[in-house]
Amino acid sequence: MKTSKKTPEQLIFPKGEKISGGTIANDHFTGTVWLQVLVQPDNTFNCPAFSVTFEQGARNNWHKHPGGQILLVTGGKGYYQEWGRKAQVILEGEVVKIHPDVKHWHGAAPDSWMSHIAISTNVQRGDAEWMEPVTDEEYRKLL
Ligand code: MN
Repeated sequence: MKTSKKTPEQLIFPKGEKISGGTIANDHFTGTVWLQVLVQPDNTFNCPAFSVTFEQGARNNWHKHPGGQILLVTGGKGYYQEWGRKAQVILEGEVVKIHPDVKHWHGAAPDSWMSHIAISTNVQRGDAEWMEPVTDEEYRKLL
């Protein structure tokens, strides 16, 4: 398996703000992520972009985007999974196109950090719909 020797500190964009998941304020993900806003949400472009760095073991809950989402993987090794399908490894340099209203999650691998740029497309169609966490049991199966 191809692995990245890069560290999160060597990414092109800053890691940004550290956020701990599983708290009342941040209940949409498990573990620790770093968030840097690259393109602020606005009514002109309708296309906000964020750099999100997941520490090893961190992942977001199952969710849907009414307008879809594009992920540009910038480092490390992670997973992307659509509901009812097998999880797929995502690596630096890969692009993931998530169609509107497809239930999915994305995050780091159980044995590596992962960073991606998340571009929210067509955001005028509405905010993400957040659902249940990816359980430790489901997640450990990826190892
Ligand atoms: Mn998503």
